[in-house]
Amino acid sequence: MRNDAAQQLTRLLSGARAAGVAMVPVSGYRSYDTQASLYASYVQQYGQATADLISARPGHSEHQTGLTIDIGNANGACGLQECFGGTPSGVWAAQNAWRYGFIVRYPQGQTSITGYAYEPWHLRYVGLTIASEMRSHNLSTLEHYMGLPAAPSY
Ligand SMILES: [Zn+2]
Repeated sequence: MRNDAAQQLTRLLSGARAAGVAMVPVSGYRSYDTQASLYASYVQQYGQATADLISARPGHSEHQTGLTIDIGNANGACGLQECFGGTPSGVWAAQNAWRYGFIVRYPQGQTSITGYAYEPWHLRYVGLTIASEMRSHNLSTLEHYMGLPAAPSY
């Protein structure tokens, strides 16, 4: 990950630990090639429409920016699944990630805006200022914050 995002991630993980939540990083930076093979495997498994909902096409993944981290529970509970949102790490991240400059990038019920299925484990670093502003104005997506149109597809 990029330096500032990585530093804040370290703080976030300590914050979780201090709150008794055993959270681990699962997947951070991905190269174009890694994303290409990941996306291709989803297309093969589920078809393109579903693949587009759950994965980014190569060149479009936030993981390629170095600003994004997928988190998990240390015991692996609900790893990269919707039910992660109800686990200790998912609940803590939804409530506290903003304090470290991260947002849950693809929130529940916002698929028509973000173009992605609910991913309670996928945190995007936006910095402390934006994360706090989104929190105080109750804006759940970066699209809303930036005043961008919905991005349901490519
Ligand atoms: Zn992710």
